[in-house]
Amino acid sequence: MDKVLRARRRGANDVQTTFSRRWRAAKAAAVAVCLWGVNLSPALRAAKPGAAMQPAAQVLRGKLVQIRGAEPVLLTAGKHVMLAGMNHFIFQTLQDKRLANDLVELHGHELPNGFFQVDRLYTLHHGRRYWVRYYCETCNIAALGPGRCVCCQHPTELQEIPVGVPGGPDPQGVIITH
Ligand SMILES: [Zn+2]
Repeated sequence: MDKVLRARRRGANDVQTTFSRRWRAAKAAAVAVCLWGVNLSPALRAAKPGAAMQPAAQVLRGKLVQIRGAEPVLLTAGKHVMLAGMNHFIFQTLQDKRLANDLVELHGHELPNGFFQVDRLYTLHHGRRYWVRYYCETCNIAALGPGRCVCCQHPTELQEIPVGVPGGPDPQGVIITH
C-alpha cells in the first residue's frame, strides 16, 4: 500500500517537475522574445535611413493596356511600362477588363526588376482624377478590388469617384462608366 502511495506521490512530483521545467522554459522564451524585441528596436531605427534610399515616388500617366496572360502594362510616351501592384487589390484592379485602354494616373515607384509598382491608381476623365472602388448597393459595402461582395456575394459595381471634391466625395459626382 505504502509503495503504491509513494509511487503516486512520485508521479505527482514528476508532473510538478515537468510543469516547473516547462514554466522555466516558457519564462526563458519570454525573456528571449523581450530581448529580441529590445535588440530589434535599434535595428528598426537603423533600417529607416535605408528606407529613405527607396526610389522616389513617381507619377505616370498613360493608357492601361491588358494583354491576355501577361502583366498589365502602361503605355506612356511611347514606352511600355510593366506594372506590379502594391497589394493584390491594386493588381486585380489593374487587371480589371473594364479599365482596359482607359487613361490612368499611377503613383508608385520602379522596382529593381524594372516593373513599376503601383501604390495608388486613378482614372482620368476630361483631365479630372477619379479613384476607383467596387461597390455593392444592396449591402452598402465598398471594396478595394474587383470581385463579389463579401456580404451578399453579388458582383460589385465599378465606381469612379472624383478626387479633391471639397467636403469629401460627392455622391452626385460618382460616375459609372463601365
Ligand atoms: Zn452585397
